[in-house]
Amino acid sequence: MFATRFAPSPTGYLHLGHAFSAWTAFEAAQAAQGRFILRIEDTDLTRCRPEFEAAIFEDLAWLGLTWEVPVRRQSDHMSDYGAALERLKNLRVLYRCFKTRKELMDGIAAAPHSFSGPEPVAPLPPQVESAFLASGKQFAWRLSLQRSQDLLGENWDKLGFEANGCWVKANPAQLGDIVLARKEFPSSYHLASVLDDASQGITHVIRGEDLAEAAHIHVVLQKLLGLPTPVYRHHRLILDNDGKRFAKRNQSVTLRSMRERGTSPAEIRTSLGL
Ligand code: GLU
Repeated sequence: MFATRFAPSPTGYLHLGHAFSAWTAFEAAQAAQGRFILRIEDTDLTRCRPEFEAAIFEDLAWLGLTWEVPVRRQSDHMSDYGAALERLKNLRVLYRCFKTRKELMDGIAAAPHSFSGPEPVAPLPPQVESAFLASGKQFAWRLSLQRSQDLLGENWDKLGFEANGCWVKANPAQLGDIVLARKEFPSSYHLASVLDDASQGITHVIRGEDLAEAAHIHVVLQKLLGLPTPVYRHHRLILDNDGKRFAKRNQSVTLRSMRERGTSPAEIRTSLGL
């Protein structure tokens, strides 16, 4: 059965871009007489806040959306993501990266929305790694594309997915060896999202085209973990007057501030071209 989801992170108030994304997924589910699932993606415990989660429910209900309950909250499932990380470690496709938190944050904060190209990283020689470990240096786990390719053999070249009705051959190298976990961040968005899409039976992932690159790495994770690959639909982005994506810190376009100013959901739909 057709099943899609809207998966916001409670790191700020929802804005016009979220409204467009949520409506797009919701209406696709309705058109297919399928399921619409709301998922709270709160694995970044340093940035997510309960009041933003409460606002997500309130704002989406105001837009007229309904969703299945109970709603899955990713922070309730960290042990599942940890177990998957162990499986990947056992497959020997992960390696430790000892870059500093600052350096890693640059990469992790960039994911999933503003991607600036792969970071030049690689597994360290064993002696260097042992010395770092012995000195208690913190590390993150990265997914090695080279080792994944070696493990998947001839299946590697067949990796791909359907996006917006076309077959797309996977090009995971454009993202490089992504970080899947680190001490304060036990599961990346990528790992949790892929696992939840599978466990929730998502057949169609509908999200903004700013996440189109992510699908290239998600199919690798799906293949390594033996999970099905859903169909992808990447929708246009809603941009501000300067042609930029709305940022959560821009309060004027949050759905709640529009509501307070007396704007109706119908007016929002019109302004979004829906
Ligand atoms: N949690 C992500 C976000 O808030 C969306 C991830 C997805 O749809 O796959 O942007």
